[in-house]
Amino acid sequence: MNVEGLILDIDGVISRGRKPIERAIDGYRILKDVGIKTVFVSNNSTRSRRIMFERFRQFGLDVDEDELIIATHATALHIAKENGRTRVFTTGEDGLKEELINLGHELVDYRDAEYLVVGSNRGINFDIFTKALRLALNSEVRYVAVNPDRVFPAEDGPIPGTGLIIGALYWITGRQPDVIVGKPSKIIIDQAIERLGVSRERVAIVGDQIDVDVLAGKNAGIKSILVLSGVTNQENYEMKVRETGVKPDFIFRDLYELAQKLKSGK
Ligand SMILES: [Mg+2]
Repeated sequence: MNVEGLILDIDGVISRGRKPIERAIDGYRILKDVGIKTVFVSNNSTRSRRIMFERFRQFGLDVDEDELIIATHATALHIAKENGRTRVFTTGEDGLKEELINLGHELVDYRDAEYLVVGSNRGINFDIFTKALRLALNSEVRYVAVNPDRVFPAEDGPIPGTGLIIGALYWITGRQPDVIVGKPSKIIIDQAIERLGVSRERVAIVGDQIDVDVLAGKNAGIKSILVLSGVTNQENYEMKVRETGVKPDFIFRDLYELAQKLKSGK
C-alpha cells in the first residue's frame, strides 16, 4: 500500500457520536506502534480543537493538539493565509468564534466585516440571517463556508448541517460561497498533508463517507481508504459509488483491519 501518513476522519472511523468504536481505538494504537503518522480531520463547524481534544481524552486516546484539524480551525487558518488578520462576521457558534479569535481575526459588526464566515449554528435566528444576507449581497465581501454538509447524523437522527445556512443564502441571494474549507474540499486536506510532513504520494485519507472522504482524497490527489464502520456499509456501497462517481482505492471493515494490514506489510 506504501503509506506513511494517514488522514483520519473521526465520526464513523474512531467514534460514533460520543461513543468510541473499541476496535478502532486499538487500531489507532497499532498504527502508532508501527510508526504511521496520523492526523485527524473533521468537518465539524461548531467545536474548537480544545473541545474535540477533551473528547479524545475521554476515549482514552492520547492525541496531540497538532494531530487534530477541525474545519473551524482550518477555516481560521485559511483566512489568515489569504488575508492576514481579518475583520470577520460569522453565523457560527462559540467553537468557531474561538478559533477565529485564536488566529488573530477580529469579530466585528456585520457593517465592518471583510469576510462572511458561515458555520452551523443551532441557535440561528432571523437577526443573524439578515446580517448574513446583507453581507452576501455585497460583492466586496468574501464569503467562506466552513463545510458544505447538508445533514449531520446526530444520535437521535439527522439534523441540518451548515447547508441550512448556505442553502438559505443561495435561495435568497443567488450567491454560493467563494470558498469551502471542509471536506470534500482540498483546502483542509492540503493543510493535513502539510501537518503530516509526508510526501503526497505516501498519504491516504481514511473515512466512512464516499461523497465526503473518498471525494476529498480524489480532489487532493491522494489515495483513499473507505472503512465500513460508519455511514457506508455493504448494502449501500454500490449505490453511493453510483451517486458520486468515485470509488475508494481500498476498502476495510474498520480502522483495526486497516491497521493490521499495514502492520503485516511492514
Ligand atoms: Mg465520517
